[in-house]
Amino acid sequence: MRSKIHPVLPGQVIPFLQPGRQDDQVLNTVLDNLAQGVLMFDADLRLVFYNHRFFQLYGISKDIARSGCTLHDLVRQGIHVGGASGDPDEHVANFLERAEDGEEFGAIANLRDGRAFLIVCKPLIDGGWLITYQDVTEQQRAQDRIAHMARHDALTDLPNRVLMRERLEHELKRVKRGEQLAVMCLDLDYFKSVNDTLGHPIGDELLKRVADRLRGCTREPDTVVRLGGDEFAIIMTDLQEPANAAVLSRRIQDSVSKPYQIDGHQIVTNISIGISIAPVDGTDPDTLLKNADMALYGAKTDGRGTYRFFEPEMDARMQARRQLEMDLRKALANKEFELHYQPLVTLKGSEITALEALLRWNHPKRGMISPADFIPIAEETGLIIPIGEWVLMTACKEMAAWPASIKVAVNVSPAQLKHRHFMKSVTAALEASGASPSRLQLEITETVLMQNTFANLQSLHALRELGVQIALDDFGTGYSSLSYLRTFPFDKIKIDRSFIQDLANGVEPFAIVNAVAGLANSLSITSTAEGVETQEQLDTLQAIGCAEMQGYLFSSPKPAKEMSKFLAEHAARTVTSAA
Ligand code: C2E
Ligand code: CA
Ligand code: CA
Repeated sequence: MRSKIHPVLPGQVIPFLQPGRQDDQVLNTVLDNLAQGVLMFDADLRLVFYNHRFFQLYGISKDIARSGCTLHDLVRQGIHVGGASGDPDEHVANFLERAEDGEEFGAIANLRDGRAFLIVCKPLIDGGWLITYQDVTEQQRAQDRIAHMARHDALTDLPNRVLMRERLEHELKRVKRGEQLAVMCLDLDYFKSVNDTLGHPIGDELLKRVADRLRGCTREPDTVVRLGGDEFAIIMTDLQEPANAAVLSRRIQDSVSKPYQIDGHQIVTNISIGISIAPVDGTDPDTLLKNADMALYGAKTDGRGTYRFFEPEMDARMQARRQLEMDLRKALANKEFELHYQPLVTLKGSEITALEALLRWNHPKRGMISPADFIPIAEETGLIIPIGEWVLMTACKEMAAWPASIKVAVNVSPAQLKHRHFMKSVTAALEASGASPSRLQLEITETVLMQNTFANLQSLHALRELGVQIALDDFGTGYSSLSYLRTFPFDKIKIDRSFIQDLANGVEPFAIVNAVAGLANSLSITSTAEGVETQEQLDTLQAIGCAEMQGYLFSSPKPAKEMSKFLAEHAARTVTSAA
């Protein structure tokens, strides 16, 4: 049948044929072995030629190609003559429209079975058309993969920033028409310690599991994004009211805070969430993201595992914080810091064993700023390193003026302890003052042990070998406190002020202080009660058998000079009362 159909192809193929040979046969052999499928139509769009490969590609029988078969007939059988699919009449109309200007055109057709064909339609001199079909499924997949990778995060396969911006821009058009949407910034709490303690493979696995839970909490039209590290974002579209974003936040926190079993480890975490709403908090992606991020910062400072909506005051507060940060950078050089000292006294005999150095910042415009307000900024910015060195140096120097029986207690941030040169700065401070290491006490908090890195423990042991004492500060404010007592041989436990304040208000604080003091005694660790303000508290602590106390009842923190006077007066009092 094929020989009855027009045997000659115009174009490049003809010149290669030698006269006098069986051209038809040669040509057919060549055409049938092409990787491309070929169809040729005459000016009336009647099929005049096809090759074997074409039917192979479409997986259909050649019976369709009977004499008189038209392009329209083939389209009705599901053959593409362009990229469009659907209604055959429309498909043909589309072809005719594009064919009108007599130029070559091409398109990618996506088949139902997932394959993709590159279809090229070439006009012929006699008004007919040559259409070629090439399977480009693999190339198409590779391209799709590349396009996917550019818009998705490799670890979790969640959309990345690029795709987030595109979606957000798209969704914000609907906000112009009166809809609302929410942008949420999410940050995993304590992810860094998981990574530091259990290693990156487990950290990665945790991120994947969190991504799955986030996907599970959201609806189809919402977009869950991984911004990077342990930061995620969600675009919540078609928001009926802002309260729905709060509902989703709670659902996410419920889900994310359930324990994870990874590689034999049980991991518990939570997530902090900041929310901005379009259009009230912004109508462009940058503003919405910035405001959600600011709300996230608010959520984190509120205590982790909470959510916060953006409020315009946050912007002002953030700017104030930035200003404070700039001022803090200059504070050391401007000599704006000083140390105040507060005594630690034994409950039996009121003997002063140590003075705790408490940092004070005398801000040129704002006056005294509490360490609670600037230490976190110093920690975040790394300024805690030079500031901490100054504290160590100054405390050791000022200690020289006190009786040798009185030690100095210095607070140490986790960031300081982790720093490579911490050991060096301790020995430098001791050497500069000529003080014996045994007169130095370092106070660390549980956070140091939560990031239970080998390096941390190693430097603690090295310090202790040097003769420096290590105290566990703010005991009871973390969550698995007692177990930390086994990780390191502390010299002292300082029971947090919150327990002392509540001593009179219930059975529980009493029971806790009692248990901790008992445990400390049995382990030969000194127990110190912090923030003792009343005689009643003191009596209770005495009955419990706590070893030391610190608080306003005995003395508030005082500048070095005043403290020297206080020490002298105290010594005189003790001598008089002993006499
Ligand atoms: P902290 O180590 O728990 O220090 C004790 C805090 O309790 C001090 O607050 C002290 O003034 C206060 N305090 C003492 N007795 C009483 C009392 O009877 N009642 C009440 N209500 N409070 C009392 P301060 O000086 O504001 O320091 C706050 C925190 O700032 C410290 O808590 C410590 O964590 C940190 N900090 C202070 N100086 C330094 C430092 O040089 N380096 C580092 N890394 N942190 C420091
Ligand atoms: Ca302390
Ligand atoms: Ca404390």
